[in-house]
Parts: sequence; structure tokens; C-alpha cells
Amino acid sequence: MNDNGKTQQQLIKEMAEMRERVTQLEKTEASLKQSNATHWESKEIFHLLVDQMTDSMIIIDWDGTIRFANETALKLVEVDSHTDVLGRNIVEFLDSDTLPGMINALAMAKAGHKVVRKEGKVITAKSQGKWVEARGTKVHFQGSDCYMVNIRDITERKKTEEALNQAEKNYHNSLDGSILGARIVSADGVTLYANQATLDLFGFASMDELKATPVTDHYTPESLAENHLRVEQRKRGESGPFNYEISIERKDGKVRHVEVFRKEIIWDGATHFQVLYHDITERKWAEKALKESEDRYRILVENASDIVFRTDNTGHFTFVNAAALLITGYQEKELIGRHYPTLIRPDMRDEAMKFFGRQFVKKISNTYSEYPIIVKDGREIWFGQNTQLILQDDKAVAFQSVARDITERKRAEEALVESENRYRELSILDDLTQLYNSRHFYNQLRMEIDRASRYHQPLTLLLLDIDNFKLFNDAYGHLEGDQVLSRLGQVLKNQLRQSDSAYRYGGEEFIILLPMTTSKDATVVAERIRTDFKEENFSPVNGKDVHMTVSIGMGQYRPQEDMKTFVARVDQLMYHAKKNGKDRVSAE
Ligand code: GH3
Ligand code: MG
Ligand code: MG
Repeated sequence: MNDNGKTQQQLIKEMAEMRERVTQLEKTEASLKQSNATHWESKEIFHLLVDQMTDSMIIIDWDGTIRFANETALKLVEVDSHTDVLGRNIVEFLDSDTLPGMINALAMAKAGHKVVRKEGKVITAKSQGKWVEARGTKVHFQGSDCYMVNIRDITERKKTEEALNQAEKNYHNSLDGSILGARIVSADGVTLYANQATLDLFGFASMDELKATPVTDHYTPESLAENHLRVEQRKRGESGPFNYEISIERKDGKVRHVEVFRKEIIWDGATHFQVLYHDITERKWAEKALKESEDRYRILVENASDIVFRTDNTGHFTFVNAAALLITGYQEKELIGRHYPTLIRPDMRDEAMKFFGRQFVKKISNTYSEYPIIVKDGREIWFGQNTQLILQDDKAVAFQSVARDITERKRAEEALVESENRYRELSILDDLTQLYNSRHFYNQLRMEIDRASRYHQPLTLLLLDIDNFKLFNDAYGHLEGDQVLSRLGQVLKNQLRQSDSAYRYGGEEFIILLPMTTSKDATVVAERIRTDFKEENFSPVNGKDVHMTVSIGMGQYRPQEDMKTFVARVDQLMYHAKKNGKDRVSAE
């Protein structure tokens, strides 16, 4: 035991505790030293980091004095060195509109708000102002509480936003003033916007009135039913339809027909629908009127007794009416697509093709033509048809014909032509003698001369003149004279061969043409005529025999001889016979 009354063991224990305390102190000091070193290093890293940041970073006092600014911040306010900003007040770099926000942010941060976000404008020497987004937070910096602000330049974003706003404004303006109805509607059917034209279309006085009920409440029942189908379709996930028609029954009871264009759009950042309304009521009326007139026209055409048909521009049937089928006996399917000229009587087809070809090429709008059509049962029917060329943009696209069965008229005309021909035949005959007349003589003579010349055949002509006929006429009268003429005609006919022909050339002068006969061979015929006629007994008065004679000139055609010269030559021969005492044949 010592003076303090502590045992050896107690002392040893205290010393160990002391040593332990020292060790701990040393450890703490060492760790403190270590921690100081880390602090210094982290400061270096901090500077490196903040200077490389793409965002600006500043640290300010609560009164706004700038304590720190990184490299990007210097660039933002367009200064060269830290000395240009440090110690200055942040207020000097802010737009006056931005200031209240800044003050407010500081207050909020001081009051404990962790991060305060604000947008504003930074003013620099060179620019009017840059839009920035700032995020501030309270920090402990160099021994005191400060405010650290991260600043991001959002000028480009702002510009884009402004452009977007302008575009949206333009869109609004164009919708407001559009003559088309325009409505923006949310996906669940709420009207977000409607222009004046939409209100006018539905007959609403105000937007409130429009919004009061769904627009579909103003659809006609038919349109409503169609709308249900569209809704169902969209529910199934189909996006359309985007273009359809609706009919609106307005407050005033008037029905408007509307073409609708529906389109998905982004409106104020959300997906909605832009619905455009085009009032087509007038167009619908016009279409209806046109259809009615077309129906009327069709009914007219269908029920017409006239044949109506249409072909394409190459002549193939595209339409035939009931009358056409009835009259031709064909079925519609037999005619549609068939080439029209194949119905025409074969000998007239080429002419018809040429006729319609000319109408097509020369764009002749309307023609009239008559063609014999062979109908189904083989009969021939005449069409008298007006054919119209249908033009579209100055191009001939079709023919349309209205035809009438003119078979009756054609038959009558044919009969007329036949009778005319008979009449013409008659007119070449002399009524009294039933021989050909002088007009026909010249035609025949020309023909016979041609033939004789071509085939080098002989042609002989006899010219007869009754002797002293004037005396007979004078003695017994004109009618008795006619009997003589008639009887001479008979004699001539009796003596003529098949190819010979006799003509009453003048009053009591006759001619006989003897083809393929020489003058020599004709002598026999001439003599027989003379004697036969001489034997004829005329009894102009009872009990009296009167005989008449003829003088005959006989000549053979000379090659190259002119027709008139030939006749005159034979006439001269006849006179020669008269001069030599009549009742004789005179030849060369
Ligand atoms: P020639 O012997 O010289 O021929 O004497 P011609 O009397 O026969 O001759 P002319 O030429 O002098 O007389 C012809 C007569 O024929 C005159 C006319 O009265 C008559 N004649 C002409 N045509 C007809 C007719 O159609 N009927 C009648 N009855 N007589 C006619
Ligand atoms: Mg005479
Ligand atoms: Mg005579």
C-alpha cells in the first residue's frame, strides 16, 4: 500500500487506461489529418467538375452577391474572366421581369425548399436576353450558407415553343375564319373548340349552346344510325373512316347535308380530333335534280317508241332501249358489245362505216342516215337515224342514235322508183307506133357505133319516109293517117331480128338499126319492109283499097364517121330514093 492508498494493481490499470486514451487520441488525430487531405482533394475535383459542366453554375449570397461562377456561366453572360462577375450582384444580369421570380426563389430556398425551379431571362452586353431555366438549392460554401444555382440556356427551346405557339395561333385564326365548319373534339366526344361556321351550320347562337348536347343529337335518324356504325368500327380499333357524309337537322328544322373530314391531331399537347364540315346541301340538291332529270330521260328513252342506242366511239353498242330490242328481235346481251355495222345489210356496211367514220373524224355533231338492218329473224328493216356524236373535252367518246323504223316508207319509195323506171321505159316508146322514139334512137345509135367500132363489126341504118303522106292526110284525115303510121310500126316490128331496133324518127319518118349487118345483107330486110308495107291495105273509106309506099335510104357505118354525118348520109340516100321515083331502096 502507498500514501494514496492505491494498490500496485490499481496503478497499472490506470496507466493502461491512459495509454489507451493516448492511442485513441493519436488515432483520431491521424484520421483527422487524413480527412483534411480528402477535403482538399474533393475541392479540386469539384472545380474540375463544375468547369466542365455544360450547365452554368453560380453560388451567390443571400443578398445576391456572386461568390462563384463556373466556366459555362462566364460564357453565358459573355465575360472573359471570373473577376468580371465575382463580387457583382446577380441582379445586374437579370431581366426586370425575371427579378421577382429570383427573389422569390431565394426566399423559398432559405425557408428550406430543397430545389427551386424558375424560368427567366439573362441579360448580357451583347444580347437582348437569353432564356434560362434555373434550379437553385441551399448549400454550405466556404463557411457560410449560400445559394447555388444551376442555369441552363433554353433560348433555342423557347424559340421553338414560340414558333409552335405562333403556328397554333395561325391555326386558330385560320379555323376561326374558315368557311368550313371546324370543331376540335376530345376522344370522349367533348367539344373543345368550334368555329363560327360550325355554329352557323348547326344553327347555334353560341358555343354554350353547342356544348350543351352532343352534336349527334342534331343528326337525322339516318345519320345517327350511320354514326353508330362508325363508333362501333372505331371501338373495334379501326381508325377510320375519315371522310363521310352526315345530315343535320337544324333548330329551324332545315336539313343540311354535310361532308365530314375527321383527323387526329395534337391540340394543346393532347391527342384530339379535328372535324371539318363542308356544307354540300346545294350540291346534293343539284345532284338530286340531275338524277331526277336523268331518271326522266331514262324513262323517256326506255318507253320511247323510237329506237334509242348508244355505241362507244368505235361503234360497239353500250346501250339499247326496249324499242330497239322489240324491233330487232335481239336480246340486250346479244347487242351490247356488238359492232353496229354488223347489223347493216352487207352491201351497205362499208358505206355506213365511212359515213360514221367521217362524222367521228370531222366531229360532225348530228347526222341523218338511212340503213337497212338485218334483224334477228333475217328480215330487212330500214333505220332512219339521227346520230349524235358525244364529245367530252373535245374528244369524241360515243355515238347516240335515235332511229325510226322507216321500212314502210322505204318500200313505198322503192315501189315509186320501180314505177318511175317503168315510166321512163314508156317514155322511150312512141305511143302511136309502139316503136322507140327519136330520143332513144340517138342513145342507141351512139351505143351501137361504139360497139361496132370496138369489135370492128358492121352497122347498117335504114331511113324510111312514107311517100305522099301529106296527100293521104289531106284526103282521109289525120286519124286515118295515124292508122298508116301505126301499121307501118307493126310491119317494121315483124321484120326485125332480135338485135335490130326500130324508131319513129320524125312525123312519118322511121329508122331501123341493124347491128352486125352489112349494107348488102340489109338489102333483104329493106326490100321485105318495102314490099310488106306496100301490101298493107288501108280502107279509109268503105269499099276503097288504098295502098301506101315507103322510100328507104340504106347506109353502112364508115369507121371514124361522126354519128350525125352517118345519119345525114343515109337521109341523103333516102332523098335519092324519093328523087328516083319513091317506093324504092337507095344504097350506095
Ligand atoms: P314525100 O313523098 O315527098 O315524102 O311527100 P309527103 O307528103 O310524104 O311529104 P311531106 O314532108 O310534104 O309531108 C309529110 C306529112 O306527114 C305532113 C304531115 O301532115 C304528115 N304527118 C307528119 N306526122 C304525122 C302524124 O303523126 N299523123 C298524121 N296523120 N300525119 C302526119
Ligand atoms: Mg317526110
Ligand atoms: Mg313523106
